[in-house]
Amino acid sequence: MRYGILGDIHANLSALEAVLRCFEQEGVDKILSVGDVVGYGAAPRECIALVREVGATVVKGNHDAAAIGELDTTFFNPHAKAATEWTSGQLSKQDMAWIEDLPLIANLSECSVAHGTFHEPEHYDYIQCTQDADASLDLMDLPVCFVGHTHVPVVIMRMTDDPTRTAYTIEYEVDLSESARALVNVGSVGQPRDEDSRAAYCVYDAEQATVSIGRAKYDIEREAARIRSAGLPGILADRLFLGV
Ligand code: ZN
Repeated sequence: MRYGILGDIHANLSALEAVLRCFEQEGVDKILSVGDVVGYGAAPRECIALVREVGATVVKGNHDAAAIGELDTTFFNPHAKAATEWTSGQLSKQDMAWIEDLPLIANLSECSVAHGTFHEPEHYDYIQCTQDADASLDLMDLPVCFVGHTHVPVVIMRMTDDPTRTAYTIEYEVDLSESARALVNVGSVGQPRDEDSRAAYCVYDAEQATVSIGRAKYDIEREAARIRSAGLPGILADRLFLGV
C-alpha cells in the first residue's frame, strides 16, 4: 500500500491541486491528511470539497477546530485570528458539520495520523525535537505516525537495535526498515515554514518501509491574489513567496 500524506493545507487550493497531481504520478492508493485543511488561506470551501472528493482520511487540526468555534483563539497571533474569523464566515453548515466530525487521531492498518502529537492530540502541542517526540513514540501501537502542525518536515525514529535512543533526520528519503517506531512530520502543503516556498507532501510505501518527502511548485501568485482580494492580512500572501 502506498499512502500520500497531506500536511497542513491551510486553504491553499493551488498548492493542494499541485500535490494531488504528484500523488497521481506517484501512484498512491490512499490519501491521508494531518489536518489544518483551513485557516490562513482564501479557499477553505474548495479545499474541503477536494479532500472529500479524493476520499482522504482527515484528522482535525487546531485551525479547523478554531474555525468552527471549538477552540479558543486567544493565543493565536492577530493574523491567524483574523483569518479564523474570515474562515468561519465562509464555511457552510455542511463544512462545519464535516469539521466537527473529524477525529483527533486516525488509526489505519499500517500507520496512524494526528495533527500535533499522538499522545495528547487535543492539546495541539508541537513536536520540534526528540524530547517532544518521546511521549508520542512511547504510546504508538503502529510503526509509523504522521503529524504536521510545525509546517517543517522531519522524521523522528526509534531504531530496532537501540530502542532507548531517539534519532532525528531532515533527509527527504528515509528507510524505515530498521525503525521500531517513527513519527513523521510531513511539512505543509499550503504554508511551508522551512524557507522553501514549494508545497510539501509525503509518500509512504508500507511494503518497502520507506517515506519520502516531496516538494511541488505551484502558482503562488494566484493564491496570493486570492488572499489579498479576500481582504485577509497581506502578510499571509507575502509569506507564501518566502516559505515562512
Ligand atoms: Zn497549521
